[in-house]
Amino acid sequence: MYIDQLVSADGNYLLTWNEVKRLNNNNFRGPKPNWFKVLENEFTLSNYRTLTYPLNDNYTIPARLQQIPDQSLGNHRKRNEWTYHWDARLQTCIMGKTYIQDTDTNSSITIMEHYLPYNNSLISNNITPQIPHSLPLILTPCPGCHLNDHSLILQDARIKCSISTRTNRLSTFNTFNHLNQEHKRFKNLLLSKYYVSTKPLHQIRHSAYNIYLSQHNVNIVTPITTTLEILSLHDENHVLRQLSSVIDSALLCDDNIKLILIDIASKFFSYTNFQFYSDGSVSDIGTINSKSGFGWIQTDPLLPQLSFSGSTIFFPSSFKSESFAILTILLVLPPNATCEIFTDSQNCIDTFNQRLGSPSISPRRRLKQNNFLIWDLIMWLISHHHLTIQLRKVKGHSNDKANDQADALAKQGRYSLAPIIINHKFFH
Ligand SMILES: [Zn+2]
Repeated sequence: MYIDQLVSADGNYLLTWNEVKRLNNNNFRGPKPNWFKVLENEFTLSNYRTLTYPLNDNYTIPARLQQIPDQSLGNHRKRNEWTYHWDARLQTCIMGKTYIQDTDTNSSITIMEHYLPYNNSLISNNITPQIPHSLPLILTPCPGCHLNDHSLILQDARIKCSISTRTNRLSTFNTFNHLNQEHKRFKNLLLSKYYVSTKPLHQIRHSAYNIYLSQHNVNIVTPITTTLEILSLHDENHVLRQLSSVIDSALLCDDNIKLILIDIASKFFSYTNFQFYSDGSVSDIGTINSKSGFGWIQTDPLLPQLSFSGSTIFFPSSFKSESFAILTILLVLPPNATCEIFTDSQNCIDTFNQRLGSPSISPRRRLKQNNFLIWDLIMWLISHHHLTIQLRKVKGHSNDKANDQADALAKQGRYSLAPIIINHKFFH
């Protein structure tokens, strides 16, 4: 299953299950699967089906947070500056044309004329038909709403709705010049005053929300930050509860899978030195039947020889499968454990060594790293649970019994109907 079979072309909207089925030539049968419901519940904003994070394995980093420029102290009339910001109370994006920026050394307030997106789904067919999400954003002056603070009433009587906001909350966008064809083509709408944004509404909305989240450091799921090593033995239950809660908040999947992992974690809990064989397996790459499976088995003879297999969706690759195998091993290890993992993925070994070597990886480089969220979680577990991990290369298809078992588990994982996804909210 590929991500573009589930989301709109721009990656920002989750399709409805009916749309997914139609796009995939009705190759999916039966009722809406649980993992899709998880996506709907955990990854979308309100009823717009806007994805909280575009599901493309990449973060959107807020483009720019405004600073107060020194030279602009005082009252400034601003012309043609368009701003947007997220209103948390209304759960919506507010857009407007800056009128005055009032700046002193401590703060800066911007007063803007409120603009609303024109309902352009009503635009007649003589304009090239487009999918709803990529319709141009046409802005018209707000005729007055409950947000109006009347602060511009003396300056300009034509302004029907004005909003004052701290300047540092605002981000800017551009509109097309009135002489531009993109502007002119809406003349026939006979709007007395309108502007056409160079960016579509969903993009602005999405950016507004992301900037809001990053500025407010919103904690949706709080990862465990307690230092586990300071807890003594009689706190065993407490530590186990914490391990369970990490498993619970780091993964989005069927509860039964979480329970299986928690059960394994409790059986491993009293041991320290582990040895695993892990493997990943991808079938039918490039088709809608593509499945990404992974599996592992604990092979130290003195410890329980427990095994696990599972699957994941979106961008199936053997690297992703192998990374998932390593991640799920780390999730079931007790704090302070030492663990040797045999894998045939040189890519994982390289990524692991690279990450260990530079713990403070730059955001830019991090974005370039495939599947960075899985690896963020792997590195987080190593540091928070004080794990000592060694990845060792095993030759693929060698006649190694443990390796064959891992291989079989990974293949078996491909048939798992309930995929495991990383919870993007874990680090927020
Ligand atoms: Zn208004």
